[in-house]
Amino acid sequence: MPVYGNHTRHSGPRRPALGYRRAVQSRRGRLSLLLVPVLLITVAPLGFPTAGTAAAAPPVVRAPAAPQPAAGGDVQASARLGFVPTWHPDGRHRPARAWPAAWPRPAVFAPTGAGRLSGTRVLLDPGHNIGNFGHTRQIAPGSWPHLRKGCNTTGTATNAGFSEARYAFRVVRVLRNKLRAHGATVIVTRDRDSRTSWGPCVQARGELGRQVRADLLLSVHADGAPASGHGFHVIAPAYAKGWTDDIARPSGRLARKVVKGMVARGLARSTYLSSTIQVRSDQETLRNSDVPAVIVETLNMRNAGDARLASSKSGRARIAAGLYAGIRRYLA
Ligand SMILES: [Zn+2]
Repeated sequence: MPVYGNHTRHSGPRRPALGYRRAVQSRRGRLSLLLVPVLLITVAPLGFPTAGTAAAAPPVVRAPAAPQPAAGGDVQASARLGFVPTWHPDGRHRPARAWPAAWPRPAVFAPTGAGRLSGTRVLLDPGHNIGNFGHTRQIAPGSWPHLRKGCNTTGTATNAGFSEARYAFRVVRVLRNKLRAHGATVIVTRDRDSRTSWGPCVQARGELGRQVRADLLLSVHADGAPASGHGFHVIAPAYAKGWTDDIARPSGRLARKVVKGMVARGLARSTYLSSTIQVRSDQETLRNSDVPAVIVETLNMRNAGDARLASSKSGRARIAAGLYAGIRRYLA
């Protein structure tokens, strides 16, 4: 089938996995050349432009009325993307369109320290959005005839009503700051958790990895499994020619590193699945990614013990520490 944008590399004679590796190597080379000017630019109040793309497209202007859940320091550290994020609502054979105004926006966060992750770029995706609950018509499959499973879902919640969307957003905020402190640039697929917004659609989240030149995409979720089971599992993309042929193998490696990191931080593997790593073809965030990608079902919100973990600041810090340990193992 025809492939577009960055996917044109799939149709070349080179093995796709090698194409991915070369892209990473050349990107690392460019990044090291750009390091000095980038460091100089980050001290400017305007923030952190995305390397290599800022000159080609007008900057994204944030809506002034947009709710800002992050603390003041985060807002100042967050910067313009430096380009207009796009996605393919009608499939990759149709033209790309700009990010809808109703969606939260991606945001870039510059490193706050230097260390083992300096020069790396991590795309974090807090699953779902709290506003999806009030916009079920907009996110439903019926509104998106070209999308196999609709735009998004509401996600699950604890029995006490703490939503997966809010949980994921908070875990990502902790994880983001940890990564930045060790030198990584962090991009998030949504910069807020707000009842007035909905989405972004799942494939749009997946498509961002290529646009922001991320080294990896990690999507944070929590499961809504039977209450008797607890623990985490990791979903990796199945091999699909023209889609994930270039990322299936490194995504599997990323999944194994995340499992190791989570276990090293004392987090329990899923007790309700036979394997901690699930390879699946039905996840559009993974299927549409051009960078190594995993979804982490970090716990089971329907389980009493896991719900306590999700609902406490210290529990979310443990989850974030496990995810960080996995990412560090993969990148460093
Ligand atoms: Zn979810």
